[in-house]
Amino acid sequence: MSTQCPICKSINIETLDYCKSAGGALGFVGGAASGAAGALSGARVGAVLGMVAGPVGVSVGSIAGAILGGLLGGTAGGVAGAKLGQSIDERYLENNHCLNCGHTFSNEVPNQPLR
Ligand SMILES: [Zn+2]
Repeated sequence: MSTQCPICKSINIETLDYCKSAGGALGFVGGAASGAAGALSGARVGAVLGMVAGPVGVSVGSIAGAILGGLLGGTAGGVAGAKLGQSIDERYLENNHCLNCGHTFSNEVPNQPLR
């Protein structure tokens, strides 16, 4: 971390990450919703695979497929949402808070290379 307060030059900086947390939560909900929709096709795939193992395999396969679809969708959505929120934090908001003087500032400081 090389973030430094432009006012007092303190390196005692915390990041606020408002959008990162909000984006992560929103992304997870959205991802889980689309994942649940995808879970229907996941269940179908699971059922088809399960058919090889007979009637029990069909229901086990369907459930496993549905759970997998919801989980994968939620996780992927959460990660994507957090990433999006983080870039909003870093680019558009004053995401850095100086613990020394209380000044908030964005990462768009001249001469500071973008990560
Ligand atoms: Zn400061």
